[in-house]
Amino acid sequence: MEFNVNEKCIKCGKCINDCLTKALTFDDNKNIIFDEKKCIKCQHCLAICPTGALSIDGKNPENCELANNKPESEKLLNLIKCRRSFRKYKHENLDAETMQKLKDMLHWVPTGVNNHNLHFAFIDDVEVMDDFRDYANGKLVDFLNSPAIKKNKN
Ligand code: SF4
Ligand code: SF4
Repeated sequence: MEFNVNEKCIKCGKCINDCLTKALTFDDNKNIIFDEKKCIKCQHCLAICPTGALSIDGKNPENCELANNKPESEKLLNLIKCRRSFRKYKHENLDAETMQKLKDMLHWVPTGVNNHNLHFAFIDDVEVMDDFRDYANGKLVDFLNSPAIKKNKN
């Protein structure tokens, strides 16, 4: 597996500290030593590097938001407080470009050891989505009215 550190490295050690399996270490000259046998390909090192100096497993800094681009804590807190699931949408199909953007966002879903072993189904027809929503809502109502749930509510 390919591992590279370029001249942007400021030898801060963040990648080393964040590596769960200790696959990264400094040598005496503060060059980073990579032990491929220990690496689980989680890419935390790439994500945490503040200068975009590190590439691993074919992923470069430009594929990864730099750690110093993270939002300020107040903005993040506000985002967390305001988050909701929206249930009402315009009754029209999404254009292909927006659909693709949403699919691309799924690359950033966090998973254990970054294996991304997930499957998603997309419904790109609003009429089919109507049927699916009715079906899913019906099942949810059935579930909420089931004896086990009602018993727990009492
Ligand atoms: S990909 Fe994960 S396990 Fe491998 S060196 Fe980076 S942080 Fe360590
Ligand atoms: S996190 Fe980046 S800048 Fe810091 S030591 Fe590792 S590669 Fe160098």
